[in-house]
Amino acid sequence: MSQSLPIADVRSLWQATAVNRPQAPELRGAKQYDVAIIGGGFTGLSTARYLAKRGLSCAILEANAIGWGCSGRNGGVVSAKYRITYPEIARIHGLEAARRMHALGRETVEHLNELVEDYGIEAAHYRQGGWLLCAHTHSYMRKIEKEIEWMRVNLGDTTNRLVSAEEVHAETSSRDFVGGMLTSFGGTLHPLNLVFGMANGVMRDGVSIYQNSPVLKTHQSGGRVVLETPNGTVSARQMVIGTDGYNELTPATGGVRKAIVPFRSAMIVSEPLEQSVADSLFTEGRSYAETRRMMRWFRKVDNRLMYGGRGAFGKEDSESAFEALRRAMFRQFPQLEGKRITHRWSGLVALTLDSIPHLGRLDDKTVYAMGYNGTGVAMSSAIGKYVAAVVVGEKPDLGLITATPLKQVPMYGVREPAVRMVAGWYQFLDAIGK
Ligand SMILES: Cc1cc2nc3c(=O)[nH]c(=O)nc-3n(C[C@H](O)[C@H](O)[C@H](O)COP(=O)(O)OP(=O)(O)OC[C@H]3O[C@@H](n4cnc5c(N)ncnc54)[C@H](O)[C@@H]3O)c2cc1C
Repeated sequence: MSQSLPIADVRSLWQATAVNRPQAPELRGAKQYDVAIIGGGFTGLSTARYLAKRGLSCAILEANAIGWGCSGRNGGVVSAKYRITYPEIARIHGLEAARRMHALGRETVEHLNELVEDYGIEAAHYRQGGWLLCAHTHSYMRKIEKEIEWMRVNLGDTTNRLVSAEEVHAETSSRDFVGGMLTSFGGTLHPLNLVFGMANGVMRDGVSIYQNSPVLKTHQSGGRVVLETPNGTVSARQMVIGTDGYNELTPATGGVRKAIVPFRSAMIVSEPLEQSVADSLFTEGRSYAETRRMMRWFRKVDNRLMYGGRGAFGKEDSESAFEALRRAMFRQFPQLEGKRITHRWSGLVALTLDSIPHLGRLDDKTVYAMGYNGTGVAMSSAIGKYVAAVVVGEKPDLGLITATPLKQVPMYGVREPAVRMVAGWYQFLDAIGK
């Protein structure tokens, strides 16, 4: 179907620089496991890791190559945040819910240290340098200031501080911002190397991985669920769906499809910059994002500027969307004018109605975990601990993530024009500084 592409078509910097690519076969013949997992990204791999710790046999079925989805395409920004802020969570769901979600967010960031160390994934280059949110207007600056105070008073979080326009300029070298919020909790990594490290790690733990093995459909037989791929089947006691924004590859994930709105997000990378230019950019080597609704984010990787944004709307990549991203990059970083773009790619972020990820059960044989809303690196690589618990019948408390099930998006059939319309409106508000 339309979302499927050979791995070579994902022309990311991560693909070009990845190491320790796991070797895993296609599924052939009939196999049996305790648990079968659809999706070979962070969610599937994390789930497999924790199922193996519980002594259960399991197989990951990946339609393309391991890391083909967002886990291998993202910006590598590690943070404890959600798409909505903690004050917004408190306003909608109450302060206790915000506290639980905050504790969970921090737990997932800390979990990364353990994961990287346990599997020896030095190639992920995980660095906890924090992240800087750059404000594009004074009214956003006031909003940020209030948020920092709110987080301190209500969540006891003192890891955020306000920074001036001069400080943002000195660190980023961009004159586009009036100040920002520096959060020391969080960092950066090479996402595809993290995927590959996790895949090699779970295989050492006894997990079977099958690549190029799309689950076409499933059915129940003799109290088990049977997953059918083009050249084989897996029969399992339970199955887990970890497909995030990629639920339209086959009908097998039809049970969750209408609860997720896939939203295209794109990245471009410059050629390596002269040392003097590279040294002047992002002197602290963190990740950076801005407050515009159609948020751009950026970081330095191997003396290149990596620049991302919600620019490439629609089902496929478009030349004009990449061009808009390139123009935005040159406007914010004019010292790059004339530099070549060597890599560009996009992926599908999974939006949910309430902007919160969800973990739950579709039926007595099927568990799902998805809907990271574009901030899933830390959460999806840690969530397997809780997915494994749900698989064996426990009821872990992940605050809003487990409290409510995935809800179907009303009028799902018109989601694409609706998303484009909202995106256009956001661009307009950004353009007039609202
Ligand atoms: C451009 C971009 C930048 C991002 N940047 C960041 C960032 O900097 N920080 C951050 O925290 N988050 C970021 N994200 C979000 C983050 O990458 C995701 O939340 C996370 O990777 C989700 O992981 P996952 O394992 O749930 O899904 P994925 O990694 O998308 O994996 C799903 C897999 O399921 C497979 N699949 C689907 N259907 C089938 C089937 N029928 N049979 C078998 N396999 C199937 C797909 O092939 C795919 O590989 C970004 C996302 C994008 C698109």
